[in-house]
Amino acid sequence: MAGLLALIAARAFAFGGGGFAASSRPVPGTPVEMLIQDGVGDADVRAVAEGVRASHDFMRLALGRTVRGPVKARMAREDTCPGGDGDRSLIGEGGAGWLCVDTRNVEWRLLVRNHRDEAMAIPAHEYVHVLQAQLGCLPTGDDRDFRWIVEGMAGHIGWEALIWSDRASDAAARRAIRHDGAHDPSNEPLRHYERSGGRTPQYAEWHLAIRTLLDEAVAAGAAPRERPEAALIRFCERVGAGSGWRGAFMRSFGMPVFEFYARYAAAERGR
Ligand SMILES: [Zn+2]
Repeated sequence: MAGLLALIAARAFAFGGGGFAASSRPVPGTPVEMLIQDGVGDADVRAVAEGVRASHDFMRLALGRTVRGPVKARMAREDTCPGGDGDRSLIGEGGAGWLCVDTRNVEWRLLVRNHRDEAMAIPAHEYVHVLQAQLGCLPTGDDRDFRWIVEGMAGHIGWEALIWSDRASDAAARRAIRHDGAHDPSNEPLRHYERSGGRTPQYAEWHLAIRTLLDEAVAAGAAPRERPEAALIRFCERVGAGSGWRGAFMRSFGMPVFEFYARYAAAERGR
């Protein structure tokens, strides 16, 4: 499964009004309006609505940050998502005030049928990009930097939201990380992904790296044990306020990024 597709891209794209024929439906309790193209199935709609709802509630109630609307959640079938190149390899995207899931993507189809929790984790992930854009830590275009943090944070908070709301288990999150290729020998050292993008195995490794980072940050006394994701939010807010990301990293996680790279590489070698 892993080689099939580019997983999730954070990409700036200003939706225009037209060009995406869809019916509209709100996600109750959130500022999100789903735009559903003809032929999208009920199981797709439920998975997106639940993933978004879990992510929104987790941010608001557990992390104290509310996504401001309006947010458009496109569910593509006839069209691709905005950054898709027509081969349907892009499963989802998210940015300032919008997200998109391609319901004709092969992996999405498999997940909706067989691994509902992993399907819900995709809109939950994309919704984190909406928050990141709001907080100012979602670089776009040539400015994209600390990419493994942006994507790992989206993956981790998305899954934590599902676990927090009893829609998924921590064991399922760890299984997805492993199956998607976090330990794939072709993965480059983490620092490579400050600026380079990746596909499914790399996304899995970045998710694992964020889990490891938060464990280290708790051990260093820099993140609260009961809700370590708060350190990710602080990192975002510091970057959004104009701090360089390496300085924001040091202050938010209690160690310089190069030290974390060394610790992470040692932990991987010890596996
Ligand atoms: Zn993403």
